[in-house]
Amino acid sequence: MGPIGLVDGRIINLDEKVAVMEDRGYQFGDGVYEVTRVYNGRPFALKSHMDRLYRSLRELRIPAVYTFEELAGFHRRLIEESGLDSAAIYLQITRGAAPRAHAFPENVVPCLTMSIRPAKSHAELRAAGAKIVFVPDERWLRCDIKSINLLANLLAKQRAKEAGAYEAVQVREGIVTEGSSSNFFLVKDGVLWTHPANNLILRGVTRTIIVEKLAPQLGLTVVEKPFDAAFARKADEVFLSGTNTEIMPVALLDGDKVGDGRPGPVTSKIMEAYDALITQECGRK
Ligand code: PMP
Repeated sequence: MGPIGLVDGRIINLDEKVAVMEDRGYQFGDGVYEVTRVYNGRPFALKSHMDRLYRSLRELRIPAVYTFEELAGFHRRLIEESGLDSAAIYLQITRGAAPRAHAFPENVVPCLTMSIRPAKSHAELRAAGAKIVFVPDERWLRCDIKSINLLANLLAKQRAKEAGAYEAVQVREGIVTEGSSSNFFLVKDGVLWTHPANNLILRGVTRTIIVEKLAPQLGLTVVEKPFDAAFARKADEVFLSGTNTEIMPVALLDGDKVGDGRPGPVTSKIMEAYDALITQECGRK
């Protein structure tokens, strides 16, 4: 087997037609999502992803109609039936289908769709360090909700692609917020800096692992305070974090070399600690 999908508990082929014309996800982007990595046939940090999913649902007032155990079961089924052991699982819940009108419909059942695909390897890029560009942050003011409404993120990522870069890092009113699909960290004089987890960024599961687990374990001080692009340009090291991105060292930041243009020592330690955590939770990476 390979990539497959799951709709309301039923396994499907990914080319099967499932969307109903009047699904609110399809018409309004009225839904939320999560992406969880699978290593060695086991989901990594699933509880944290599902906790964030429930929070996103609450913030958008979409009823949560699946328990954690059910959602965990769907993840297990996709892994088993696909036979994939290094993969990414996408989960989406929309408010459901109803005649098109902006206000929430009543008595509508949310629609759950999921898919599993093989994970992409970033090994070469990780060893060399990635290139990133700065772009204006054109998103709304609730970036803390993992909404499927991703237009500004898509425009940002496309600009990165056209610039030959791995990621576009967004800047709002001079402040560096986060990547189009990753969080942004820098190292200055041995201290780790990242944007506070407020409404202007997504509280990444990987970001939380770094801030709450890996940094304390490595004796690193974390500063969660806004900083501008000029400060970022003077960083000793820069890296991105994310479920698919994992820990990605940045070698070139908007045309400038970061440090000596190679992954730095603090970033390397965090990468090793992250890999060790995956091994601990999933058996191996
Ligand atoms: N910020 C944004 C905008 C993202 O889309 C992602 C990836 N989902 C992240 C940060 C990283 O979050 P996580 O570590 O939970 O994947």
